[in-house]
Order: sequence, then structure tokens, then C-alpha cells
Amino acid sequence: MTQLREPGFRDSVDIMFNRAVAVMDLSPGLVEKIRVCNSTYTVRFGVRLRGQIHTFTGYRSVHSEHMEPVKGGIRYAPGVNQDEVEALAALMTYKCALVETPFGGSKGGLCIDPRDWEPHELEQITRRFAYELIKRDLINPAQNVPAPDMGTGEREMAWIVDQYARMNTTDINARACVTGKPLNAGGIQGRVEATGRGVQYALREFFRHPEDVAKTGLSGDLDGKRIVVQGLGNVGSHAARFLAQEDGARIVGVIERDGGLWDDAGLDIEAVLAHLRATGGVRNCPVGRFEPVGAELLEADCDILIPAAMEGVINLDNAARIRAPLIIEAANGPVTAGADEILRRRGIVIIPDLYANAGGVTVSYFEWVKNLSHIRFGRMQRRAEEARNRLLVEELERLSADRGLGWTLSPDFKRRFLTGAGELELVRSGLDDTMRIAYQSMREVWHARPDVSDLRMAAFIVAIDRVAKSYQSKGL
Ligand code: NAD
Repeated sequence: MTQLREPGFRDSVDIMFNRAVAVMDLSPGLVEKIRVCNSTYTVRFGVRLRGQIHTFTGYRSVHSEHMEPVKGGIRYAPGVNQDEVEALAALMTYKCALVETPFGGSKGGLCIDPRDWEPHELEQITRRFAYELIKRDLINPAQNVPAPDMGTGEREMAWIVDQYARMNTTDINARACVTGKPLNAGGIQGRVEATGRGVQYALREFFRHPEDVAKTGLSGDLDGKRIVVQGLGNVGSHAARFLAQEDGARIVGVIERDGGLWDDAGLDIEAVLAHLRATGGVRNCPVGRFEPVGAELLEADCDILIPAAMEGVINLDNAARIRAPLIIEAANGPVTAGADEILRRRGIVIIPDLYANAGGVTVSYFEWVKNLSHIRFGRMQRRAEEARNRLLVEELERLSADRGLGWTLSPDFKRRFLTGAGELELVRSGLDDTMRIAYQSMREVWHARPDVSDLRMAAFIVAIDRVAKSYQSKGL
């Protein structure tokens, strides 16, 4: 076995990129153009808080502008650095290409632990950071559209959109400058849970292909599958909740910062989330057995492992001990390139991040389109659809009565058939369609090419091919 050295996050993404381009027919110049991060802007700004000036460091990287605007979240975490932001921006380029959202890739970050600050202080810091990015068009509906990521959510996006609107009072498309906003500030239904929902749809699609499932040694569907989730934040909590409540999966283990919880019978996920909300951790939770070293549960015996917290958690130290036959990367970069090689050799199937967590950017795309069209999805069609369906139901009932057939439509069928699709139903439908089609495009390459050993390599090939074609059509 070759001696493996743990690469950094940026290098990990490059290694995965290089594996894919090695089997593609692209000129070296174009490969380099696609690989490199176009620009990274670093800003250091001061904010007067608690009687003194505090200096914060933030970044906004633009990986690829083959399509504009570029898109990617803004992360608040103490460890944010240029390497990480550039790696995440690169992943955004490939993710957007894979799920066919018409964006280039970008990412931003602020070195801050949001738990250290009061909400009004975070607002001041966020507005100041946004100001710095807006004045350089690094937040702009036509050029660069951020979204939430680790440590940020609807609240921060609402501050950012308000800051942009204050600085661009005549921009009719101001609301499209950022996605992941609350509904009352131009958001879209279903965005908060979109990434977790996308993880669920990705797993459902995987389990629709018995040939693929067979590679894991599992069988059947999600019902009864034993799942471990790391990180019960936005992505992990929604994925866990949907999989347990709608697909019959058993969440046997969860891992948070302060430890893990285990229950062979399946944890009551609502009780865990309520305890987490109330105390900020999982220690002393009334359900499950507490494990003080949470990360050890990554190695537990289960069917599906969902790392949904942060990058690099499955690495050279623990890859050999991972027992789950299927890993779905809900977080960005949870498996290092070194661990990826070990897991591949061990036959573990990985549904890669650039596909698995693309639900967020997909629904962000819908939100951006909604903002630019200035109308809620379904507003024009919903009642027309209901009226047509009612016509059909009434006609069927009339025919049945006229001919004495005695047919009756069940009240549940009638209720569902007569309810036109509103924004939430349309968002879910669009997300489901996107996740299915993107999976199929990956698996086609995975199965058709003997030189493509895994889904990650297939995902990169599909994405890089699309980015390459876009550059080629521009004459590059
Ligand atoms: P979040 O801040 O809402 O949640 C992260 C959770 O992980 C928190 O509950 C935190 O306590 C926990 N956590 C942090 N460090 C941990 C550790 N060492 N062990 C166990 N738990 C730990 O963040 P999020 O938005 O859910 O993002 C999680 C991951 O998903 C990130 O990699 C992010 O880039 C990725 N992602 C998020 C979105 C989105 O829409 N929010 C979209 C795509 C990808």
C-alpha cells in the first residue's frame, strides 16, 4: 500500500479534480483554467463593540465565472481561512454544473465564532462585512449571490439583503442579491430545509437503483435502515427528521460537538433536537445512551453514515475503521482525499458532496428566479389547476350517477387531487426532479466507463465536462 499523507481541504479537492481530468480528453491549458480559483478577496474591518474596536477577517472567493452570477454560501466559523474558502468555492462550481443551476462557483467566510456575540452585535458585524463585499460587487444580483452556510442562516441573509437595498436604492432586483432569506424578506418556501431534503431525495434515488444498492451489500429501500448522522445543524437535523419520519429509517446514532447519542431501536429525533435547542448540546439528553467521544460513533456499525457537520472528519486516522457500507456526504468535504482512497479500496460507496448537498443551491436558484420574476411560484396557475381538476371530478361523478355505476372517489383522493400546487409543492417537485436527474447523469458515467471507479469521479467528470463546454463556447 502506498504511504498516504493527509492533504489539506484545497488539495483534497484538487486531487479529486485531477483523478477525473486524467480520464478526460481536455487540453492541459483548459484543465488549468478550470482548476484554479479566479480570485480571493480578503477584507479586514473593524467594528466598535463592547467599548472597543474589534477587527474581523473575511473572505469571498470566486472560483469560476464561466456563468454569472457566481453562487456560494457565507460561513461563520473561527477556523475559516483562504484555503478552505477556495476549496468550497471550487466545489460550488462543480456542484452548480452537476445539478444544472446556471451559476459559477463562489464562497465566503468570516473568522468568527457566532456564539461569542449577541444578535445585535452579529448584525453590526454582518452589515459591515456585507458593506465591504457589496461595494466591490462581491454581493450583487447579477454577479455574486451568497447564501447561508455553517454558522449563518435566514437572519444573516435578511441583514445582508437589507444592507444591499440601502446601498442600491433603485435596484429593482435588490432582493435577488442573496438567497436563503426569510419569506418576509423575499425568501422562498422550502429553502431552510432544502439541503436536508436534497439529502433525502438523493438517498431515495440511490435506492431506486438495485444495481447500485447491491454494491453496498444492502438491499431494499430506506425503510428500517440504520443511520448515523454527524452534526444536527441545518442540514443534519432536517435530513435526520425526514428520513426517520417519512422513509422509516432508524437514526441509531447522532454526533454533536459535545458527544454522541446511541439507540439501536432508533432515537426519537424530535426529542434530541428539542434538547439540543434548549441546551446547545446532546449531553444529558433524556433519550439514547450518551457517548462522550462522539467522533467514535462515525466508526459504529450502521447502514448509512451521514457526515453533516464539517470537512475532514473522515480522514487517514479513522478511514480504515469506518463500518458503514454507504456514506452520503451531506457536509462539504467530510472525507479527505486520503480517506477517500482507503474507503474506495474497501468497497465503501460514497455519494459525493457536490451532488449530495446540492439541494440548498438548487432551491436557492428557485429563490433567485422568484426574486427576479417578482412573483411567487404557483400564484398564476394554482386556482386554474384546481378548477380543471374539479371539472374532471364533477364529470366523473355525473357519469357515475347517470349510468348508475355507483363509483365514489375517496375523500382523501378528492382532497389531494383538488388541491393545486402551491410554492412549497413546486419547490419540492423541482428539487426532486433535479436530484433524480443529476444522480442519473452520474450513474450513467459510473456504469458506462470501466475507468470510472466511483460516484465522486463520475460527478466530477459530468461537472467538469459541462464547465469545459461552457468555456469552449466562449472561445477559450
Ligand atoms: P450548521 O452550523 O447549521 O450546523 C453544523 C452542526 O454541526 C452544528 O449543529 C454543530 O454543532 C455541529 N458540529 C460542528 N462541529 C462538529 C463536530 N466536530 N462534531 C459534531 N458536530 C459538529 O451548518 P449547516 O448549514 O448545517 O452546514 C453543515 C455542512 O453542510 C457544512 O459542511 C456546510 O458547508 C454544508 N452545506 C450546508 C448547506 C446549507 O444550506 N446550510 C448547503 C450545502 C452544504
